[in-house]
Amino acid sequence: MDVSQRESWLLARYAMFSRDTAGRKHAEPEHAYRGPYQRDRDRVLHSAAFRRLSGKMQVFTGEMGDYHRTRLTHTMEVASVARTMARVMRLNEDLVETLALLHDIGHPPFGHAGEDALAECLADDGGFSHNHFALTLVEDLEDRYPQFPGLNLSQEVLDGQKTRTDKTGTTDWPPLLEVQLVDLADSIAYNAHDVDDAMVLGLVQPGDLLEVPLANRAARHLARKHKEIPENRRRQALVRELIDIQVGAVLTKCLPELSKSGWNSADEARRAGYCLTPSADIAAEKRVLEEFLYDSVYRHANLLEVRRRAQQQLTEMFEYLVRHPNFLSPPYRARIEEVGIRRAVADYVGGMTDRFCYQRYDELIAQSS
Ligand code: MG
Repeated sequence: MDVSQRESWLLARYAMFSRDTAGRKHAEPEHAYRGPYQRDRDRVLHSAAFRRLSGKMQVFTGEMGDYHRTRLTHTMEVASVARTMARVMRLNEDLVETLALLHDIGHPPFGHAGEDALAECLADDGGFSHNHFALTLVEDLEDRYPQFPGLNLSQEVLDGQKTRTDKTGTTDWPPLLEVQLVDLADSIAYNAHDVDDAMVLGLVQPGDLLEVPLANRAARHLARKHKEIPENRRRQALVRELIDIQVGAVLTKCLPELSKSGWNSADEARRAGYCLTPSADIAAEKRVLEEFLYDSVYRHANLLEVRRRAQQQLTEMFEYLVRHPNFLSPPYRARIEEVGIRRAVADYVGGMTDRFCYQRYDELIAQSS
């Protein structure tokens, strides 16, 4: 069975079918047995930028322990949640997986702290956004194919990532359902795993968490399912329940709506302006959990200190490299003429892992001062 036949069997009519792809910027012959989005997934998976996610912080740095998520394991959790949901909704699982693996690939070292620092360095030169940098990586900086620069991904993958750079969208229509789904899976995954990591690190106490409605709901679900949960398994059970509730709230609301819709193509679903969302009660509780995480975790004093140091080092290194471009690696030196010195330095620094960034800072700045 070829890809097209397989998709005809498995996908709903409102899914994005491989046979309807707008193709790639540089035309390529079809692969013998992989569909276009399967190839895209493999191209992302084999990219250097994807591997570097293992050395980039999600919320907590490597110095804070080895239990918590890195940006790579966050990405894998997003892909897992997204694929599960895509399969139930009969959306294109290959496209969903590609978008999930790609979604955070443009994060500079030190997460949002690093992004803010680079945005500040480039304030007069177009700014810096990790979502936009993901496109630069896959369209330009990943050099691995003889015939073209970048990964030459399918248009739907690039368009999906583009909607992340501008949430208001470039058309009047919402993005493909597959794109919307990955966005939902991202927040479902981080809401749950940030609770888990923050509890292990002692930044969140169970008593405070249980005052948050969604966590309280999860605890009530668990109490109905189990007479007693051993102390050492409560946190994991709660985190699992948090994922389950959030996923369930999307599926139970959207599945009946989609099956009633009568849309015969991905395009029809878009033109109808349909948006995947969780049920209203869970959407509201999700927002409260996100506010709680923001105040008690992302703005925790320990993280603000990491943030301060990361921003200071990144900014110092950025300005040093602008003055001494001979320390850029050759591909980035070659880019200066094309994109200007400040953007070339941002492209170089943006691709670094946290560890390499510390190391480079030590080599270039700490030892020379
Ligand atoms: Mg993410």
